[in-house]
Amino acid sequence: VTGRTPFIAGNWKMNLDHQQAIAFVQKLHWSLKEAKHVEGSVEVGIFPPFTDLRTVQTLLDADKISFALGAQDLSTKDSGAYTGEVSGAFLAKLNCGYVIVGHSERREYHDETDEVVAAKAQAALRHGLVPVICVGETSEDLEKFGASAVPVGQLEVALEGLPSEADIVVAYEPVWAIGSGQAATPEQAQEVCAKLRDVIAAKLGPDAAQRTRVLYGGSVKSTNIASFMREPDIDGALVGGASLVVGEFAAIVRYQK
Ligand code: PEP
Repeated sequence: VTGRTPFIAGNWKMNLDHQQAIAFVQKLHWSLKEAKHVEGSVEVGIFPPFTDLRTVQTLLDADKISFALGAQDLSTKDSGAYTGEVSGAFLAKLNCGYVIVGHSERREYHDETDEVVAAKAQAALRHGLVPVICVGETSEDLEKFGASAVPVGQLEVALEGLPSEADIVVAYEPVWAIGSGQAATPEQAQEVCAKLRDVIAAKLGPDAAQRTRVLYGGSVKSTNIASFMREPDIDGALVGGASLVVGEFAAIVRYQK
């Protein structure tokens, strides 16, 4: 028993507009209720596009739905002349508890460096948001350096200078496993997640390493989630494609170890 509540987080990416989001959240809520999913045994998080957040927040409040809400990105800046950017202050005001930073799609398509990811993690913490810091190696990295060197290096930069009490989540997402249908094996994922926990210990101290949740992401499905959750250093999953199918996401939330 680690005291770390399992966290199943759904990253919708650029899918579901605010009207589709309403139907989706209601269906997911009913699906979990019908299955008598025990609230509190697993934290369920949803990460919709920015334009859905206000609508989803209103729905969660109105129907007393206890899903955690998060955004998929934020600005390194807090306010000002930064056209198109979204401040962590705005996300906090919408009751977002979390924000993803450093997703591999942001790193790849928006040239986000490790330093930008670190600045985004700091921006999140300034506004009381928990950054879900994503790290992971590409298939080329895997061939050249093995599985852990790149994610370990990325996390070292992201955690540089954070206080030991910083409330963060780390997500290990091998880039080759994202959206490919080819998940890492639980053993591979455990090995890297354990090394990421060592980085947290080195940068933020042993207490932080013990309390911080480390997630696995990359082609997680209802059929493989339990095998990941059995690993001692994997505390949940960041789910992309399968988070868009109500029955499948609900089944992932209801995994049995
Ligand atoms: C992701 O993009 O964070 C992800 C894990 O995607 P998928 O589950 O579709 O592989």
